[in-house]
Amino acid sequence: MFKNILLAFDGSAHAQEAARLAADLARQYGASLCVVHTYDPVPDYLGEPFLQEVISRRTEAADRVIEQARALLGALPQVETEVLEGPAAEAILRVAEVRKVDLIVMGTRGLGQLSGLLLGSQSQKVLTHAQCPVLLVR
Ligand code: ATP
Ligand code: MG
Repeated sequence: MFKNILLAFDGSAHAQEAARLAADLARQYGASLCVVHTYDPVPDYLGEPFLQEVISRRTEAADRVIEQARALLGALPQVETEVLEGPAAEAILRVAEVRKVDLIVMGTRGLGQLSGLLLGSQSQKVLTHAQCPVLLVR
């Protein structure tokens, strides 16, 4: 049923659960999995050389988050990764459209500090605008 799964991963506890579940589904359906992680937008008023330095630092941190996701996924037929500038929901929706994803798996909540919220702002946006099923994991 699912051929092309997108996992949105920010390293949070819910996203870790989402990673385990996405990997399980990918194995069961023989689907390919694309892991998406975004870093905070870098303000271009910083100017050079600071701009490049901040971008490098953010992409290096992002690569470490992607490695954490890979470790949770284990062996899979096909895994690709995308590190993009945020906001996360916009990037997730764009990748889902371009790659013609048929399932998005993400956490219900992420790293945000407002513990009272049922749903994070990024998962809410993706759920509202996605053209495919969205599986929210907790
Ligand atoms: P908020 O960010 O609105 O303060 P929150 O952090 O609790 O609240 P979200 O950011 O919506 O909630 O996180 C929900 C899920 O969205 C995460 O579990 C993860 O799957 C995905 N997500 C959030 N941030 C990112 C990111 N930077 N890159 C990739 N996926 C993300
Ligand atoms: Mg968040």
